[in-house]
Amino acid sequence: MKRIFLYGLGTVIALVALVVVALRVPVIQDIVLERGANAVVSGDTVDLSDPDALTLIFCGTGGPFPDPERAGPCTLVAAGGRVFLIDSGTGGAQRLQQLRVPMGTLEGVFYTHLHSDHIAGLGDIAMNSWAAGRSAPLELYGPPGVEGLAKGTFDAFGIDSKSRIDHHGAAVFVPPAQEIRSTAFVVASRDESLVVMEEGDLKITAFKVDHVPLENAYGYRVDFKDRSVVFSGDTVKDTNMVRFGADADVMVHEVMGMANIHTIIGALQDNGLSRQAKILTDASEVHTSPVDAAEIANEANAELLIYNHIVPPMPLGVMEDIFMRGVSDVRSEGVMLGYDGLQVRLPAGSDEIEVGGL
Ligand SMILES: [Zn+2]
Ligand SMILES: [Zn+2]
Repeated sequence: MKRIFLYGLGTVIALVALVVVALRVPVIQDIVLERGANAVVSGDTVDLSDPDALTLIFCGTGGPFPDPERAGPCTLVAAGGRVFLIDSGTGGAQRLQQLRVPMGTLEGVFYTHLHSDHIAGLGDIAMNSWAAGRSAPLELYGPPGVEGLAKGTFDAFGIDSKSRIDHHGAAVFVPPAQEIRSTAFVVASRDESLVVMEEGDLKITAFKVDHVPLENAYGYRVDFKDRSVVFSGDTVKDTNMVRFGADADVMVHEVMGMANIHTIIGALQDNGLSRQAKILTDASEVHTSPVDAAEIANEANAELLIYNHIVPPMPLGVMEDIFMRGVSDVRSEGVMLGYDGLQVRLPAGSDEIEVGGL
């Protein structure tokens, strides 16, 4: 028995050694690369053309901190063939490409507010969607200041844009699509909402949330046919999410893992990093804990709550347990941690919520 085992083990080792040696032979390396390249380029892209569903693709579920698992705030909304982003966080464009999302279909970006982590990926979004075939100007919607974001990004990428047209030709990089347009709007008060877009079966409504010291920080409600999703943007626990997110099929709510954050603040203080400790303490006062977000979702009667803008990064598994502590006491089902690549599909004329990963 022992001898048979040793023979078997010897065969496996010999095969592994053969593969290792073979992979160093140039002609075999070329074959492997050719097959790999074909497999990648012939793979299906995500279909965003469904005329009868509201679809979400999470292209960034992190916040401002470096997180190898999560890009900055970025959520794609597709409804009846229309395609928009909510925010364009750092790394969102790269994540969309990894997820094989056809970026050329992107029409525009709705900004919840203009903090750096929510806007910093715009240049990459604009350039990569243009390269992927977007043929109309990119449209930005958001609070006052979005005009400067559009113009500043357009100007900063001016040399790049010109070189693309010069290099690849106007038939490939269609010149009008280099333009970045903007529509700034103000929601008059906390008690009102503002319909920002209403076209066909799609309605996008903005409302104010509390993210001091910003005067204009918005949540968005997206309604398509009989389905709906509400986005909190960045906010403290805010009853406006209950009011304007009432009966939404999906609530995408920002969260800060307060228990984790307070431990990190303590470590910063213990190590004499008072500047970083102050910034993190200030930040912890303008966000929402997972338990508070669960209470909001309950009060709003939202069917599924998805945690988003997940801060801090959680490199240790134990941090996720600490992050979720107390949530199941408040909301035992219909709650999940968002992740990059998460896809949620809401077919019209049904109550179904299809959740999958890309
Ligand atoms: Zn943020
Ligand atoms: Zn913010």
